[in-house]
Amino acid sequence: MAEVLSSGTLNLSWRRDLFGSKLVLWNNLAACLANITLNHEQDDFKWNLDQACVFTVKSHYLGLIHQNIPNTNKKLWKFKIPLKIKIFLWYLKRRFILTKDNLARRNWQGSQQCCFCHEDETIQHLFFDCHVTRLVWARSTRLGVCLNQVVYLICLETG
Ligand SMILES: [Zn+2]
Repeated sequence: MAEVLSSGTLNLSWRRDLFGSKLVLWNNLAACLANITLNHEQDDFKWNLDQACVFTVKSHYLGLIHQNIPNTNKKLWKFKIPLKIKIFLWYLKRRFILTKDNLARRNWQGSQQCCFCHEDETIQHLFFDCHVTRLVWARSTRLGVCLNQVVYLICLETG
């Protein structure tokens, strides 16, 4: 950590691109880290939400309600669909679904091709772009394409 901070600029790389709210959070963290000077004294924790630097439930509560952090999953959790579907869509939005590209990032050695075609299997491909997926979306409901677009907007929108 001292090595990273001593270089003056945070030269870090990420497995996934940062965008939207995560990029904003990273920029805020980098701005906070820019003012930190490391020394050889023992570390200690300070609670920044209270002037006395002591944790209190009140300071935590006030910190939470005044930070104005947007709840990007609000729309998803308000849908009147089974909880297990909401959780799956939340996983999809967070890109935790174990598609072959995600498995490969975890050192999985299998083929990364889609089972239905020869494209690489990504979340975008498997849930939206693959011709088989489009067929399933179109036949699963009379709303087909519209439902596909709603799920796309909920799950893959940034921010
Ligand atoms: Zn495919």
